[in-house]
Amino acid sequence: MSVVRQLPPHVADLIAAGEVVERPASVVKELLENAVDAGAGHITVELKNGGMTFLRVSDDGCGMDAADAKTAFLRHATSKLHAPEDLSAIQTLGFRGEALAAIASVSRIDLLTRTAGDTAGTSLRLEGGSVLEQSPAGCPPGTTIIVRDLFFNTPARMKFMKSDAAEAAQVLNAVQNQALCHPDIAFRCLRDGQEQLSTPGDGSLRSAVYTVLGREFSKDLTEVDSHWEDYTLRGFVTKPEATRGNRLAQRFFAAGRPVKSKLLTAALERAYENQLLAGRFPGCVLMLELPPRLVDVNVHPAKTEVRFLSEQDVFDAVRYGVQGALNRAPGRPEMKLNPRSGPHPNPSAPKRNFYQTMDTEQFRKFADTLAQAPAAPPQVVKRIFAPPSKPSEVTLSSPPAVMRSEPPVPKETPMRNASGADAPPPEPPPASQPPEPVQQNLPLPAVPSYHVVGEVLNTYIIVEQEDRILLLDKHAAHERILFEKFRAAREPPAGQLLLSPLPVRLGREEAGAVLENAALLFDFGFEAEDFGGGQVVLRQIPADLDLSQAETVLQELAAQLLEGRRTGPETLRDNLLHTIACKAAIKAGWYTDPRERDELVAQVLSRDDIKYCPHGRPVCMTLTRSQLERQFRRS
Ligand code: ADP
Ligand code: MG
Repeated sequence: MSVVRQLPPHVADLIAAGEVVERPASVVKELLENAVDAGAGHITVELKNGGMTFLRVSDDGCGMDAADAKTAFLRHATSKLHAPEDLSAIQTLGFRGEALAAIASVSRIDLLTRTAGDTAGTSLRLEGGSVLEQSPAGCPPGTTIIVRDLFFNTPARMKFMKSDAAEAAQVLNAVQNQALCHPDIAFRCLRDGQEQLSTPGDGSLRSAVYTVLGREFSKDLTEVDSHWEDYTLRGFVTKPEATRGNRLAQRFFAAGRPVKSKLLTAALERAYENQLLAGRFPGCVLMLELPPRLVDVNVHPAKTEVRFLSEQDVFDAVRYGVQGALNRAPGRPEMKLNPRSGPHPNPSAPKRNFYQTMDTEQFRKFADTLAQAPAAPPQVVKRIFAPPSKPSEVTLSSPPAVMRSEPPVPKETPMRNASGADAPPPEPPPASQPPEPVQQNLPLPAVPSYHVVGEVLNTYIIVEQEDRILLLDKHAAHERILFEKFRAAREPPAGQLLLSPLPVRLGREEAGAVLENAALLFDFGFEAEDFGGGQVVLRQIPADLDLSQAETVLQELAAQLLEGRRTGPETLRDNLLHTIACKAAIKAGWYTDPRERDELVAQVLSRDDIKYCPHGRPVCMTLTRSQLERQFRRS
């Protein structure tokens, strides 16, 4: 007796439906994609009971004639794909030709559709995938599909549904994603008669972002618009001072569709490294465009996952695209005078270990994410970007700072940024050339004239520039400058040999870690030797470091080296540099020589990369004339 049998078609349909139709939101996603593919300018989604009993999607797209309307519900019926070769060059959103069949097999459907060329439209009624009724009908051009009683014939699936509110939220999320992907289409979403979303469809991503993500999110955004080889990255990211406590505000799109991707998240967050406070995450709406041959969107039936041909290239395109935009973003955070919305995200939070930017749990999660992402660019051959340790042209001598005759050259990220007020730098050379030329000799942004008013509380330097007042945190500023200097150094930071070697007491494990990493520490200006019994002697320390700090710094470095076995070399390096920079930087509360102060101000005002200390605290805040006038009720 034969045991292998072909599944009856309705069973096969139900299995396919299980792949495509998970919940109301997945139905909406498919119907929206069809409406977009149909060239609609307006799309309205209405739902009741979280979409379980009633879902209606109407569009003013191309519509279908009577014959197509019926065929559309057959499995593998599609107008979008004719031959297997087409799969590699998919331009439309739908391509499997099974969404309508799958949805129809688990619901009751009413379809009304008309093409612009037909005088009469078509009305079609289906239940569990079978056509019950088809008739001509009067209707406007376009398509309206009503999906009722989802999963009425598969009660097992019903059990997996969440509350109406939760399902409705996912439906809204699906509409929002499409609205962000298609700013030229006006989307509306009504839940139980209440309008949840209405986008203008004016073609501007900024207005789509504003309507979808709200005023609060849209206030502090930096525009990203970068192009590199085959990759184009567009959208908006939050500024480092306007981040949030979770990743919910990160929205990625690749090849025109919303995607979830650890790779993209990791690349985004890498762009903010050394600029973010502990436990803070950037938000974004980022659209990655790339040629179809470089991306496989056919991985998952519901198509929220994509596979990139070169993960490394995608990672770099996102990381450096965002980094370039952040570096270019003009201005410094304005002071928030309303005490309830102060710039510190959580002033009452317990003070963290100053040198750690994440707690262990966060770190582990993040490291896991990164582990799945490609490492930093291993070679620079075809890159036009500066790799992370790429030396910049900046050389700073401090402390004590020496007044320089020529202004420093700002660090530059070469991805072109077509947005923003400042003029883009001269065209970078084509990607095939070595990276060097674009890094150098870029025109300096003109620094508007300013004058240093003085210092208050032995901590904040006050500067008047045009019609605003700048307040610099001298420690944060110096720390960042040193950090960049160390990081960019072509040669190891100069060490100072100690007249008499300094013994430092560490634990056995710590001492072991220090000795194991002697070469790395030497790169940073430390020379340590074994002294036995968990002690080491320091023969040399970095020139920037005061002798009185050497012992504590080494103890902290030792702890980080132990930690670093988990964090990986790049993060470890940065952590070590944070520590040295922090310790070597001038201290808040201490007297600072006015010449040093002036040099700090000159650096901060002329360099784009000095915006946040390596722990993510702002270096400089702005108080504008209009803010003052408002406070003094002058305006
Ligand atoms: P696919 O989108 O993968 O082609 P679907 O099952 O989603 O498969 O749709 C089948 C076909 O029905 C589409 O190829 C298209 O020709 C037609 N269709 C579906 N929805 C619409 C719509 N809103 N307007 C016009 N045509 C539509
Ligand atoms: Mg489709």
